[in-house]
Amino acid sequence: KHAPKLASNSYLDVKYPKGARQQIGKENATLVMLCRNSELEGALKSMRSLEDRFNRHYKYPWVFLNEVPFSDEFIEKTTLMASGKVYHELIPEEDWEAPKFINETKLQESLDSSHHIIYGSYRSYRNMCHFNSGYFYRQKRLLDYEWYFRVEPDVEYMCDFQYDPFELLRTTNKMYGFIVTFLEYENTIPTLWPTVESFMKENPDLIHPNNSLDFITTHENSLNSYIDLIPSSSDYNLCHFWSNFEIANLNFFRSEAYGRYFDYLDKSGGFYYERWGDAPVHTIGLSILLDKNQIHHFEDIGYYHAPYLSCPGSGEVRASKRCICEPRTSEKIKKPIDVDVYSCLPRWWKYGGGKRFLN
Ligand code: GDP
Ligand code: MN
Repeated sequence: KHAPKLASNSYLDVKYPKGARQQIGKENATLVMLCRNSELEGALKSMRSLEDRFNRHYKYPWVFLNEVPFSDEFIEKTTLMASGKVYHELIPEEDWEAPKFINETKLQESLDSSHHIIYGSYRSYRNMCHFNSGYFYRQKRLLDYEWYFRVEPDVEYMCDFQYDPFELLRTTNKMYGFIVTFLEYENTIPTLWPTVESFMKENPDLIHPNNSLDFITTHENSLNSYIDLIPSSSDYNLCHFWSNFEIANLNFFRSEAYGRYFDYLDKSGGFYYERWGDAPVHTIGLSILLDKNQIHHFEDIGYYHAPYLSCPGSGEVRASKRCICEPRTSEKIKKPIDVDVYSCLPRWWKYGGGKRFLN
Protein backbone atom coordinates (compact mmCIF):
# COMPACT_ATOMS: atom_id res chain seq x y z
CA LYS A 1 0.00 0.00 0.00
CA HIS A 2 1.19 3.51 -0.83
CA ALA A 3 1.38 6.20 1.79
CA PRO A 4 -1.54 8.61 1.43
CA LYS A 5 -0.83 11.57 -0.93
CA LEU A 6 -0.75 14.79 1.03
CA ALA A 7 -1.90 18.07 -0.45
CA SER A 8 1.15 20.27 0.08
CA ASN A 9 -0.91 23.32 0.97
CA SER A 10 -3.20 21.58 3.44
CA TYR A 11 -2.10 22.00 7.02
CA LEU A 12 -4.77 19.60 8.25
CA ASP A 13 -3.82 16.80 5.90
CA VAL A 14 -0.19 17.03 6.96
CA LYS A 15 -1.19 16.62 10.59
CA TYR A 16 -3.80 13.97 9.90
CA PRO A 17 -3.15 11.94 6.76
CA LYS A 18 -6.46 10.59 5.43
CA GLY A 19 -5.39 6.98 5.99
CA ALA A 20 -5.04 7.55 9.72
CA ARG A 21 -8.28 9.48 9.92
CA GLN A 22 -10.28 6.62 8.49
CA GLN A 23 -8.68 3.84 10.49
CA ILE A 24 -11.16 1.80 12.51
CA GLY A 25 -10.15 -0.02 15.67
CA LYS A 26 -9.87 -3.77 15.19
CA GLU A 27 -9.74 -4.93 18.79
CA ASN A 28 -12.66 -6.52 20.64
CA ALA A 29 -12.80 -3.56 22.98
CA THR A 30 -15.05 -0.94 24.52
CA LEU A 31 -14.90 2.28 26.51
CA VAL A 32 -16.81 2.00 29.82
CA MET A 33 -18.20 4.72 32.06
CA LEU A 34 -20.11 4.13 35.28
CA CYS A 35 -21.88 7.34 36.17
CA ARG A 36 -24.95 9.16 37.41
CA ASN A 37 -27.41 11.24 35.40
CA SER A 38 -26.31 14.29 37.41
CA GLU A 39 -22.78 13.89 36.01
CA LEU A 40 -23.81 14.40 32.38
CA GLU A 41 -21.75 17.55 31.86
CA GLY A 42 -18.57 15.93 33.21
CA ALA A 43 -19.28 12.77 31.23
CA LEU A 44 -19.48 14.80 28.01
CA LYS A 45 -16.20 16.59 28.81
CA SER A 46 -14.40 13.28 29.31
CA MET A 47 -15.94 11.89 26.13
CA ARG A 48 -14.91 14.91 24.10
CA SER A 49 -11.34 14.64 25.39
CA LEU A 50 -11.03 10.91 24.69
CA GLU A 51 -12.77 11.11 21.31
CA ASP A 52 -10.51 13.98 20.20
CA ARG A 53 -7.30 12.47 21.51
CA PHE A 54 -7.97 8.85 20.51
CA ASN A 55 -11.30 7.33 19.72
CA ARG A 56 -12.51 9.34 16.72
CA HIS A 57 -9.78 7.53 14.77
CA TYR A 58 -10.97 4.11 15.99
CA LYS A 59 -14.66 4.44 16.82
CA TYR A 60 -14.75 1.93 19.66
CA PRO A 61 -18.20 1.73 21.28
CA TRP A 62 -19.08 3.29 24.62
CA VAL A 63 -20.90 1.41 27.37
CA PHE A 64 -22.54 3.51 30.10
CA LEU A 65 -23.54 1.82 33.35
CA ASN A 66 -25.92 3.07 36.03
CA GLU A 67 -27.98 1.55 38.85
CA VAL A 68 -30.93 3.75 37.85
CA PRO A 69 -32.13 4.29 34.25
CA PHE A 70 -30.30 6.96 32.26
CA SER A 71 -32.38 10.02 31.38
CA ASP A 72 -33.41 10.74 27.79
CA GLU A 73 -31.17 13.81 27.84
CA PHE A 74 -28.19 11.74 29.01
CA ILE A 75 -28.78 9.16 26.31
CA GLU A 76 -29.22 11.74 23.56
CA LYS A 77 -26.22 13.91 24.41
CA THR A 78 -23.75 11.06 25.01
CA THR A 79 -24.87 9.39 21.78
CA LEU A 80 -24.17 12.59 19.85
CA MET A 81 -20.74 12.98 21.46
CA ALA A 82 -19.59 9.46 20.53
CA SER A 83 -17.95 8.55 17.23
CA GLY A 84 -19.23 4.98 17.36
CA LYS A 85 -22.00 2.91 18.91
CA VAL A 86 -23.30 3.73 22.39
CA TYR A 87 -25.02 1.45 24.90
CA HIS A 88 -26.76 2.55 28.09
CA GLU A 89 -27.15 -0.30 30.56
CA LEU A 90 -29.00 -0.71 33.83
CA ILE A 91 -27.06 -2.50 36.59
CA PRO A 92 -29.17 -5.25 38.23
CA GLU A 93 -29.98 -4.45 41.85
CA GLU A 94 -28.19 -7.55 43.18
CA ASP A 95 -24.97 -6.40 41.48
CA TRP A 96 -25.14 -2.97 43.09
CA GLU A 97 -26.55 -3.29 46.62
CA ALA A 98 -24.75 -4.89 49.59
CA PRO A 99 -24.81 -8.72 49.48
CA LYS A 100 -27.34 -10.51 51.71
CA PHE A 101 -24.68 -11.65 54.18
CA ILE A 102 -23.81 -8.04 55.09
CA ASN A 103 -25.17 -7.13 58.52
CA GLU A 104 -27.23 -3.98 58.02
CA THR A 105 -26.77 -2.73 61.60
CA LYS A 106 -23.01 -3.13 61.40
CA LEU A 107 -22.92 -1.36 58.01
CA GLN A 108 -25.02 1.55 59.32
CA GLU A 109 -22.75 1.86 62.37
CA SER A 110 -19.73 2.05 60.11
CA LEU A 111 -21.35 4.72 57.90
CA ASP A 112 -22.32 6.76 60.98
CA SER A 113 -18.85 6.65 62.47
CA SER A 114 -16.78 7.25 59.32
CA HIS A 115 -17.19 11.00 58.69
CA HIS A 116 -13.44 11.50 59.14
CA ILE A 117 -12.74 9.05 56.27
CA ILE A 118 -12.90 10.32 52.69
CA TYR A 119 -16.36 9.35 51.30
CA GLY A 120 -16.66 7.28 54.53
CA SER A 121 -20.30 8.09 55.27
CA TYR A 122 -21.70 7.36 51.79
CA ARG A 123 -23.43 4.04 51.24
CA SER A 124 -23.46 4.74 47.48
CA TYR A 125 -19.66 5.06 47.44
CA ARG A 126 -19.32 1.63 49.09
CA ASN A 127 -21.70 0.13 46.53
CA MET A 128 -19.66 1.78 43.77
CA CYS A 129 -16.31 0.42 45.04
CA HIS A 130 -17.83 -3.04 45.55
CA PHE A 131 -19.29 -2.96 42.03
CA ASN A 132 -16.01 -1.79 40.48
CA SER A 133 -14.12 -4.49 42.36
CA GLY A 134 -16.28 -7.48 41.57
CA TYR A 135 -19.21 -6.79 39.27
CA PHE A 136 -18.50 -4.46 36.37
CA TYR A 137 -16.87 -7.18 34.26
CA ARG A 138 -19.89 -9.48 34.68
CA GLN A 139 -22.38 -6.98 33.23
CA LYS A 140 -24.18 -8.58 30.31
CA ARG A 141 -23.09 -6.03 27.72
CA LEU A 142 -19.44 -6.36 28.68
CA LEU A 143 -19.51 -10.12 28.12
CA ASP A 144 -19.29 -9.29 24.39
CA TYR A 145 -15.86 -7.73 24.84
CA GLU A 146 -12.35 -8.78 25.76
CA TRP A 147 -10.87 -5.33 26.52
CA TYR A 148 -12.17 -2.25 28.31
CA PHE A 149 -11.00 1.28 28.91
CA ARG A 150 -12.43 2.80 32.08
CA VAL A 151 -13.44 6.44 31.84
CA GLU A 152 -14.84 8.74 34.53
CA PRO A 153 -16.66 12.07 34.32
CA ASP A 154 -14.47 15.20 34.41
CA VAL A 155 -11.17 13.66 33.39
CA GLU A 156 -8.83 14.84 30.66
CA TYR A 157 -6.31 13.08 28.42
CA MET A 158 -3.41 15.46 27.88
CA CYS A 159 -1.82 14.05 24.67
CA ASP A 160 -2.76 12.48 21.35
CA PHE A 161 -2.64 8.71 21.67
CA GLN A 162 -1.34 8.11 18.10
CA TYR A 163 -1.82 4.36 18.52
CA ASP A 164 -4.44 1.91 19.68
CA PRO A 165 -3.75 1.16 23.38
CA PHE A 166 -5.81 -2.06 23.22
CA GLU A 167 -3.67 -3.31 20.34
CA LEU A 168 -0.52 -2.30 22.19
CA LEU A 169 -1.54 -4.33 25.25
CA ARG A 170 -2.57 -7.36 23.19
CA THR A 171 0.53 -7.46 21.01
CA THR A 172 2.90 -7.00 23.95
CA ASN A 173 1.13 -9.71 25.98
CA LYS A 174 -0.13 -7.35 28.70
CA MET A 175 -3.33 -7.64 30.71
CA TYR A 176 -3.48 -4.25 32.40
CA GLY A 177 -2.33 -0.68 31.83
CA PHE A 178 -2.24 2.28 34.24
CA ILE A 179 -0.98 5.85 34.29
CA VAL A 180 -1.02 7.05 37.89
CA THR A 181 0.13 5.16 40.99
CA PHE A 182 0.30 6.56 44.49
CA LEU A 183 -0.59 5.92 48.15
CA GLU A 184 -4.04 4.94 49.47
CA TYR A 185 -5.53 6.45 52.65
CA GLU A 186 -4.70 3.94 55.34
CA ASN A 187 -7.90 4.48 57.36
CA THR A 188 -10.05 3.21 54.46
CA ILE A 189 -8.53 -0.30 54.56
CA PRO A 190 -7.58 -1.36 58.14
CA THR A 191 -8.16 -5.09 57.54
CA LEU A 192 -7.58 -5.37 53.77
CA TRP A 193 -3.98 -6.52 53.96
CA PRO A 194 -4.50 -9.08 56.78
CA THR A 195 -7.38 -10.48 54.68
CA VAL A 196 -5.13 -10.68 51.60
CA GLU A 197 -2.45 -12.40 53.70
CA SER A 198 -4.83 -15.15 54.78
CA PHE A 199 -6.04 -15.49 51.18
CA MET A 200 -2.43 -15.98 50.06
CA LYS A 201 -1.74 -18.50 52.83
CA GLU A 202 -4.81 -20.52 51.84
CA ASN A 203 -4.17 -20.26 48.10
CA PRO A 204 -0.40 -20.38 47.54
CA ASP A 205 -0.99 -22.04 44.16
CA LEU A 206 -2.67 -18.86 42.87
CA ILE A 207 0.31 -16.58 43.57
CA HIS A 208 2.20 -15.93 40.33
CA PRO A 209 5.90 -16.84 40.58
CA ASN A 210 6.85 -13.55 38.88
CA ASN A 211 4.40 -11.39 40.86
CA SER A 212 4.70 -7.69 41.83
CA LEU A 213 4.61 -8.20 45.62
CA ASP A 214 7.85 -6.23 45.94
CA PHE A 215 6.04 -3.26 44.46
CA ILE A 216 3.20 -3.27 46.99
CA THR A 217 5.05 -4.32 50.15
CA THR A 218 7.78 -2.53 52.05
CA HIS A 219 9.61 -5.77 52.60
CA GLU A 220 12.55 -5.97 50.21
CA ASN A 221 13.12 -9.56 49.39
CA SER A 222 15.73 -11.16 47.22
CA LEU A 223 14.58 -14.75 47.65
CA ASN A 224 13.78 -16.74 44.54
CA SER A 225 11.06 -19.01 45.79
CA TYR A 226 7.64 -17.45 45.40
CA ILE A 227 6.38 -19.19 48.51
CA ASP A 228 9.06 -17.35 50.48
CA LEU A 229 7.90 -14.12 48.90
CA ILE A 230 4.53 -14.32 50.64
CA PRO A 231 5.01 -11.44 53.05
CA SER A 232 3.66 -12.93 56.24
CA SER A 233 5.28 -10.29 58.39
CA SER A 234 5.49 -7.37 55.96
CA ASP A 235 2.99 -4.63 55.41
CA TYR A 236 1.13 -3.34 52.41
CA ASN A 237 2.85 -0.07 51.52
CA LEU A 238 -0.45 1.48 50.25
CA CYS A 239 0.80 1.78 46.64
CA HIS A 240 -2.03 1.36 44.15
CA PHE A 241 -2.80 2.01 40.50
CA TRP A 242 -5.36 4.77 40.25
CA SER A 243 -8.29 2.83 38.82
CA ASN A 244 -10.20 5.80 37.39
CA PHE A 245 -7.91 5.25 34.38
CA GLU A 246 -7.43 1.64 33.46
CA ILE A 247 -7.18 -0.23 30.20
CA ALA A 248 -7.36 -3.93 30.75
CA ASN A 249 -8.34 -7.38 29.63
CA LEU A 250 -11.74 -8.33 31.06
CA ASN A 251 -10.68 -11.98 31.10
CA PHE A 252 -8.26 -11.23 33.92
CA PHE A 253 -11.18 -10.14 36.11
CA ARG A 254 -13.30 -13.02 34.84
CA SER A 255 -10.58 -15.57 35.66
CA GLU A 256 -11.11 -18.20 38.34
CA ALA A 257 -8.16 -16.80 40.29
CA TYR A 258 -9.52 -13.24 40.46
CA GLY A 259 -12.99 -14.62 41.22
CA ARG A 260 -11.65 -16.56 44.20
CA TYR A 261 -9.70 -13.50 45.34
CA PHE A 262 -12.72 -11.19 45.08
CA ASP A 263 -15.07 -13.68 46.80
CA TYR A 264 -12.63 -14.10 49.66
CA LEU A 265 -12.43 -10.34 50.21
CA ASP A 266 -16.17 -9.91 49.76
CA LYS A 267 -17.02 -12.58 52.38
CA SER A 268 -14.85 -10.77 54.91
CA GLY A 269 -17.27 -7.82 54.69
CA GLY A 270 -14.57 -5.15 54.28
CA PHE A 271 -16.28 -3.46 51.34
CA TYR A 272 -19.11 -2.53 53.72
CA TYR A 273 -17.74 -2.57 57.28
CA GLU A 274 -14.76 -0.56 56.09
CA ARG A 275 -14.47 1.60 52.96
CA TRP A 276 -12.24 -0.49 50.73
CA GLY A 277 -11.58 1.19 47.39
CA ASP A 278 -11.58 -0.71 44.12
CA ALA A 279 -8.14 0.73 43.34
CA PRO A 280 -6.18 -1.09 46.09
CA VAL A 281 -8.36 -4.19 45.55
CA HIS A 282 -7.56 -4.28 41.82
CA THR A 283 -3.90 -3.47 42.42
CA ILE A 284 -3.33 -6.16 45.02
CA GLY A 285 -5.15 -8.72 42.85
CA LEU A 286 -3.06 -7.80 39.81
CA SER A 287 0.13 -7.79 41.85
CA ILE A 288 -0.29 -11.28 43.26
CA LEU A 289 -2.05 -13.07 40.38
CA LEU A 290 -0.22 -11.75 37.30
CA ASP A 291 3.28 -11.81 35.92
CA LYS A 292 4.62 -8.32 36.60
CA ASN A 293 5.54 -8.04 32.93
CA GLN A 294 1.83 -8.20 32.08
CA ILE A 295 1.25 -4.78 33.64
CA HIS A 296 1.97 -1.74 31.50
CA HIS A 297 2.64 1.86 32.52
CA PHE A 298 1.28 4.26 29.89
CA GLU A 299 3.85 7.01 30.26
CA ASP A 300 3.09 8.82 27.01
CA ILE A 301 -0.60 9.75 27.31
CA GLY A 302 -0.91 12.21 30.18
CA TYR A 303 -4.01 12.28 32.36
CA TYR A 304 -5.86 14.58 34.70
CA HIS A 305 -8.38 13.55 37.35
CA ALA A 306 -8.77 16.05 40.15
CA PRO A 307 -6.61 16.86 41.97
CA TYR A 308 -3.70 15.16 40.19
CA LEU A 309 -2.06 15.58 36.83
CA SER A 310 0.26 13.12 35.16
CA CYS A 311 2.25 14.46 32.21
CA PRO A 312 4.89 12.65 30.10
CA GLY A 313 8.40 13.41 31.32
CA SER A 314 9.91 13.47 27.85
CA GLY A 315 9.87 16.82 26.02
CA GLU A 316 10.06 15.01 22.71
CA VAL A 317 6.95 12.98 23.55
CA ARG A 318 5.10 16.11 24.69
CA ALA A 319 5.90 17.95 21.48
CA SER A 320 5.17 15.17 19.01
CA LYS A 321 2.00 14.04 20.78
CA ARG A 322 0.62 17.57 21.15
CA CYS A 323 0.43 17.33 24.94
CA ILE A 324 -1.12 20.22 26.82
CA CYS A 325 0.65 19.82 30.15
CA GLU A 326 3.93 20.26 31.97
CA PRO A 327 5.31 17.49 34.19
CA ARG A 328 6.40 19.95 36.88
CA THR A 329 4.26 22.98 37.57
CA SER A 330 3.45 24.91 40.66
CA GLU A 331 -0.21 24.92 39.68
CA LYS A 332 -2.42 24.38 42.72
CA ILE A 333 -5.38 22.94 40.81
CA LYS A 334 -3.62 20.30 38.75
CA LYS A 335 -1.01 18.91 41.12
CA PRO A 336 1.71 17.03 39.24
CA ILE A 337 1.63 13.58 40.81
CA ASP A 338 4.55 11.75 39.20
CA VAL A 339 7.11 13.96 40.94
CA ASP A 340 5.17 14.00 44.23
CA VAL A 341 6.48 12.19 47.32
CA TYR A 342 3.27 10.12 47.37
CA SER A 343 3.89 8.80 43.86
CA CYS A 344 4.70 5.10 43.66
CA LEU A 345 6.15 5.39 40.14
CA PRO A 346 9.81 5.29 41.26
CA ARG A 347 8.94 2.09 43.14
CA TRP A 348 7.26 0.68 40.02
CA TRP A 349 10.35 1.45 37.95
CA LYS A 350 12.52 -0.32 40.51
CA TYR A 351 10.40 -3.33 41.44
CA GLY A 352 7.56 -3.56 38.97
CA GLY A 353 7.49 -4.65 35.38
CA GLY A 354 8.19 -1.12 34.18
CA LYS A 355 11.21 -0.01 32.24
CA ARG A 356 11.66 3.71 32.06
CA PHE A 357 12.28 5.22 28.61
CA LEU A 358 15.46 7.23 28.53
CA ASN A 359 14.88 10.73 27.28
P1 GDP B 1 -13.54 9.43 43.18
O1 GDP B 1 -12.91 9.34 41.82
O2 GDP B 1 -13.02 8.41 44.13
O3 GDP B 1 -13.51 10.81 43.74
O4 GDP B 1 -15.10 9.02 43.03
P2 GDP B 1 -16.14 9.43 41.90
O5 GDP B 1 -17.22 10.26 42.51
O6 GDP B 1 -15.46 9.97 40.69
O7 GDP B 1 -16.77 8.00 41.56
C1 GDP B 1 -16.05 7.03 40.82
C2 GDP B 1 -16.86 6.60 39.60
O8 GDP B 1 -18.07 5.99 39.99
C3 GDP B 1 -17.26 7.75 38.68
O9 GDP B 1 -17.29 7.27 37.36
C4 GDP B 1 -18.64 8.09 39.15
O10 GDP B 1 -19.40 8.66 38.11
C5 GDP B 1 -19.18 6.73 39.54
N1 GDP B 1 -20.13 6.76 40.65
C6 GDP B 1 -19.88 7.09 41.94
N2 GDP B 1 -20.98 6.93 42.70
C7 GDP B 1 -21.96 6.49 41.88
C8 GDP B 1 -23.35 6.14 42.07
O11 GDP B 1 -23.89 6.20 43.16
N3 GDP B 1 -24.03 5.72 40.96
C9 GDP B 1 -23.46 5.65 39.72
N4 GDP B 1 -24.19 5.23 38.70
N5 GDP B 1 -22.17 5.96 39.52
C10 GDP B 1 -21.43 6.38 40.57
MN1 MN C 1 -13.48 10.21 40.05
